[in-house]
Amino acid sequence: MYLSKLFIPITKDLPAEAKIKSHQLMLRAGMIKQSSAGIYSWLPLGFKVMKKIEQIVREEQNLIGAQEMLMPTIQSSELWKESGRYEDYGEEMLRIKDRQGREMLYGPTNEELITDIFRSSIKSYKSLPQILYHIQWKFRDEIRPRFGVMRCREFFMKDAYSFDLTDQDAKKSYNKMFYSYIRTFNRLGLKAIPMSADTGPIGGDLSHEFVILAETGESQIYADKKIFEIDLNKYDFSDKSLEKMREDFSSIYAVTDEKYKEKDFSKNVKKENQIKTRGIEVGHIFYFSDKYSKPLNCLIDTQDGKKISVKMGSYGIGISRLVGATIEANYNNNIMKWPKSVSPFDVVIIPSISKNNKENLEKAEKIYKELKKQNIDVLLDDVDENMSNKFKKHDLIGIPYQIIIGSKSEQNKYEFKELNSESEILSLESIKSKIKKN
Ligand code: ATP
Ligand code: MG
Repeated sequence: MYLSKLFIPITKDLPAEAKIKSHQLMLRAGMIKQSSAGIYSWLPLGFKVMKKIEQIVREEQNLIGAQEMLMPTIQSSELWKESGRYEDYGEEMLRIKDRQGREMLYGPTNEELITDIFRSSIKSYKSLPQILYHIQWKFRDEIRPRFGVMRCREFFMKDAYSFDLTDQDAKKSYNKMFYSYIRTFNRLGLKAIPMSADTGPIGGDLSHEFVILAETGESQIYADKKIFEIDLNKYDFSDKSLEKMREDFSSIYAVTDEKYKEKDFSKNVKKENQIKTRGIEVGHIFYFSDKYSKPLNCLIDTQDGKKISVKMGSYGIGISRLVGATIEANYNNNIMKWPKSVSPFDVVIIPSISKNNKENLEKAEKIYKELKKQNIDVLLDDVDENMSNKFKKHDLIGIPYQIIIGSKSEQNKYEFKELNSESEILSLESIKSKIKKN
């Protein structure tokens, strides 16, 4: 893609409510445009990043055997009346009426709908376990939408639902999902801490929020640094190993405000290992047993001929929120550097261009074609603008690698720079292997 052709409405004027780095950067770099409070259009650059995040989430869900499907955004109120949540959900639910006067709603979450799908198709223990997921827009009429894509009214979420016969089996599904989440956030270049969270009236210890460290986050967190030392490669995919993995994570202190006690923190965590900061919740997994299957009468025949309510868990990842969260975690001193896995482009070529010298642009175009052939997603900055402005713009767009064609390039060697490091003069072959390897 040539930068002159890319739809990237870079803006300088920021609205007063854009208080945090990610919100400002997304507006300035033309990644999103607000359409009304807490509702955004995703412009090409922002959409590209979100799609990359979505794809990583999808691959990691598929890897644990979860099956992708798609449920509608608009739901009927009937199921929510059956579960008893139609009243309880309150004003966060956007309620609408169709032309026949039927009560409909824009789904804030999908426990009811998936339980209905499940109860009408699966009857026997033989068909269990199952994990289903979809990636879909949600609407919650948040009282205070803010921080750009972090707390929206309309947002993009992956939500998965597990179905098991027994609590024991459900725990296995939960552990798989736990493992999948750690892998997912690692691939996104984020350090996410699983924090044991409140399970509400059901009790038990099977609820975790995945939180990444960021001063602008909405939750206060307390954790032991040791949690970052756990190496996922230690565990295989057997149920026993995954149980051990979750226990290992759970044995290290990590809590949000709600569960924090000063005394426990200082007793359990060495002074030099104490993390006391703010964080952004990017995922939440939750085992709730028969909370929905019971009122919705979702029954399964057991091997000995009884009928029992299926045991369920739900597992969310805020995909659109993750775009903002990734910026919060990586934007420093006015430079944004996307993790390679989600960067909108793999590399940008920046030729120094002037009216009477098109030589650099021609060189750049040759390299562009060469990289394209290798399936490298490359942006060519063909805009006629001075180099210092170009660099400022690319500090904002955040593509991690730059090939600079200017005074420093030699015969068949070019200046190659990874954002936030010194540049080197390299042949195109070495540049290619650097882009691919790192
Ligand atoms: P929060 O406490 O942040 O409101 P929640 O407990 O309501 O989150 P869940 O229902 O578990 O969130 O949703 C799963 C994930 O969806 C969250 O971990 C978060 O990443 C994302 N999410 C939730 N609400 C929003 C929102 N209003 N805007 C953007 N993302 C959201
Ligand atoms: Mg919420």
